Amino acid sequence: MTAITEAARQTPVAEDCDVVVCGGGPAGVAAALAAARAGARTRLIELHGSLGGIWTVGRMAFVCGMHASKNGILMEIVNGLKARNAVGLSGLAFDVEETKLLLEEMCLEAGVTIRLHTRVVDTIRNAENRITCAITESKSGREAWRAPVFIDCTGDGDLGARAGCTFSVGRPGSGETQPMSFIAVVTGIELEAIRQFTNARRPEDGQSRISHKKRLQTLLTEAGTPPSYSHPTLFHIHDNLFLMMSNHEYGMSGIDADHLTQSTLRGRTEVHAQMAALRKVGGPWKDIRIVATSDQIGVREARRIKGRYAVTVDDLVSGVRHPDAATRCHFCVDVHATNPAKGKGLGNEGVKAKPYDIPIRALIAADVDGLMMAGRCISGDFLAHASYRVTADAVPMGEAAGKVAAAAARTDRLPQDVPWDEVGK
Ligand SMILES: Cc1cc2nc3c(=O)[nH]c(=O)nc-3n(C[C@H](O)[C@H](O)[C@H](O)COP(=O)(O)OP(=O)(O)OC[C@H]3O[C@@H](n4cnc5c(N)ncnc54)[C@H](O)[C@@H]3O)c2cc1C
Repeated sequence: MTAITEAARQTPVAEDCDVVVCGGGPAGVAAALAAARAGARTRLIELHGSLGGIWTVGRMAFVCGMHASKNGILMEIVNGLKARNAVGLSGLAFDVEETKLLLEEMCLEAGVTIRLHTRVVDTIRNAENRITCAITESKSGREAWRAPVFIDCTGDGDLGARAGCTFSVGRPGSGETQPMSFIAVVTGIELEAIRQFTNARRPEDGQSRISHKKRLQTLLTEAGTPPSYSHPTLFHIHDNLFLMMSNHEYGMSGIDADHLTQSTLRGRTEVHAQMAALRKVGGPWKDIRIVATSDQIGVREARRIKGRYAVTVDDLVSGVRHPDAATRCHFCVDVHATNPAKGKGLGNEGVKAKPYDIPIRALIAADVDGLMMAGRCISGDFLAHASYRVTADAVPMGEAAGKVAAAAARTDRLPQDVPWDEVGK
């Protein structure tokens, strides 16, 4: 590849604050809320036009990994959505638009200052290898955001990578990653007429946990559109509104703009073809149509930034406990097929996970100072990530990181010098 040299330039400092959170998904919103509530001047920078990440711009508004022991900001969000009648009757699928509004209101009430439509593109580090600024690009041009502590909640580890951190991607050796998925919000179908094809099935509709997915796969296949994801799922939200996950994009990287583009174009084509095929099936499907699709195709995994601790599959198998547990995870290992020649579904790859702890050390960068991570870009291995990436764990991780970041900023310490028992409960 040929390259050019850009001229050096002056970049205005847009703001001095205590904590800068990059990425406003489930982890980033929680990190910003926790930091602001702890008294830190907190700036939340998000690429898209709404907060919520996979829940909103990805259109996959469903919480996995929920457990009775979960509390804090995660439960505030769930209860806030319930109070707005925005949560479905089956599982924890919720209304995308209500979610956007709720997250904005919560952040504004806590005093978080939000910048949307802005991409983090670089960092400035000082002579001690500490991040001093995040650099962004937006309609306002190039800007610098200065703070003592930064939290990478970009999902893809953009901030950590730009700061020069070591990171891993995909399976050890091959680097294969889980497929991306393009999600559609659909309507024009009545729950009672198609319940057995949805996650809202009743026990009498089928014994198996995944029988509704098999029915939908058969239906789509017989209609002439075999889905690229062999466990397609219709999540009921409310009334006649559903989320549909029926697409897998194999061998595509979430940190390659060409791959993201190709996957988006293919995913959109596939879900529209599926809708047209179902309409031809007729009966309860004759009026099915798409209301909205992902603004950003769902990326299951990208960079895992090296931290001061790496969560491993052995931690899951043994059910490890840590004195500095940022959260306890209860979700299984959930690997979506990385090689379509061997299958297009998902599985645990033979790993039986017990509830396990993620220590706050896994949320503190190893290579650069002043940087924390939360959500799917924390430090861990491929199989561990396949469990802890879910949103019921991303939110508590963000909450823990926000508390530590605020304490570090307030007392002029680095995150690794803040004892967990000083802030964690
Ligand atoms: C298709 C799919 C289906 C899934 N299904 C479920 C499910 O049903 N239930 C569940 O709990 N989990 C599910 N997951 C997993 C889960 O959604 C994610 O792992 C989770 O979103 C992690 O939260 P996060 O905040 O780390 O990342 P994300 O939700 O990805 O949020 C990252 C945010 O950072 C922003 N961002 C990215 N780069 C930049 C940048 N350079 N500058 C500024 N902002 C940036 C993004 O726009 C986004 O808002 C699914 C994931 C996918 C992809």
